[in-house]
Amino acid sequence: MKNLVLVLNCGSSSIKFSVLDPNNEVVYLNGEASALNLDSSSIIWNTKNNKKISVCKKFMSHNYAIEYLCKEILLEKNSLLFSKIIGFGHRVVNGGINFKKSVLIDNLVIKKLEKCIFLAPIHNPLNLMGIKKFIKLFPKLHNKNVAVFDTSFHYKIPKMSYLYAIPKEFYYKYSIRKYGAHGISCNYILQKSSKIFKKNIKCLNVIICHLGNGSSVSVVKNGVCIDTSMGFTPTDGLIMGTRSGDIDPSIIFYMNENLGISIKDIKNILNNKSGILALNGKSSDFRHSENKYYSSEIDKLTITMFCYRLAKYISSYFFLIKNKIDAIIFTGGIGTNSSLARKITIHYLNSLNFYIDNKKNQKKCLDFNFINKNDTIPILVISTNEEIVIAKDTFNLVS
Ligand code: AMP
Repeated sequence: MKNLVLVLNCGSSSIKFSVLDPNNEVVYLNGEASALNLDSSSIIWNTKNNKKISVCKKFMSHNYAIEYLCKEILLEKNSLLFSKIIGFGHRVVNGGINFKKSVLIDNLVIKKLEKCIFLAPIHNPLNLMGIKKFIKLFPKLHNKNVAVFDTSFHYKIPKMSYLYAIPKEFYYKYSIRKYGAHGISCNYILQKSSKIFKKNIKCLNVIICHLGNGSSVSVVKNGVCIDTSMGFTPTDGLIMGTRSGDIDPSIIFYMNENLGISIKDIKNILNNKSGILALNGKSSDFRHSENKYYSSEIDKLTITMFCYRLAKYISSYFFLIKNKIDAIIFTGGIGTNSSLARKITIHYLNSLNFYIDNKKNQKKCLDFNFINKNDTIPILVISTNEEIVIAKDTFNLVS
């Protein structure tokens, strides 16, 4: 046990953490503070010998959870493990145009990150908070913090797909363009597919559907991402847990000018009160509607809309790589676990020679599964592992 990396992923309602060896991928400790700021908040973590520990505390804040992780879990209860940590890898959702690859964090990087907050208003402030807390709480390792960006994967997207058709100064002066997200997951999926297909990454042509609380679909041609559904911010594209995805921008003007809703409230509506939650009226958790798909019209419509929008994106991306396509790949909490979402989505794509084998589709995915019918285009389910990607980048930069 040496040269370990701690990976921190500060999200809107949860903080995921793990301590792992990036070289052999052994995980020594992992856990999650979840339902933050709610009365059901808790921190649960496991150690390598499978000792599961949980602490429940109502209305736990992000601040409290990080302090608990650093002081109680790391310094107090796992001090030996902590002494082996050589770096901290932080997931950062949007690095804007400044960051094309992972970086060691210093004051200048923090300043640049502060300027990117508007690009992922739900995520970036929390990512930054985690970074600042770690620098403060572990001063001896202050120069061993690394930022790994979800946007780096997409930086080679060609201009024709990242530009918006708006006056050009908004791009040249204000950097308004498509940035994408979920790049860390896509990176892992690409590396994994390269092993599965025994093909060099540079020869891979895949459509990656990362479907979770946030969802996006990306198309990769010859190992390079050429388009993705998320845009300037992660509000764009597919229907998500609480985010609207694509809408006509005039809806925003109408809400503001005719309905008197403030821009701040509209931002909150589109990011936190829309998507699956708005459609079923009950829960942003996909499982809620999935369980009621056959008994409730509202939930059936929710799932159908989610899959229909996804199928529209997949079919438009398919034409960019159709002669060379290796696979459609499903990943993320929904992509990995929901056989229903996969079945309905692929049903819309039958005419493009995508067919699901229902039996294979029902199998639980522990690592990866092929779920297509024989002699049709491969459809893969892969469990993503963003931690490995973050840990490897961190190791490479700090060592
Ligand atoms: P993620 O953001 O990747 O952690 O995924 C979270 C989403 O995955 C939530 O909407 C969950 O409802 C969904 N999810 C997790 N497990 C399942 C499952 N067994 N079936 C359907 N959706 C699931």
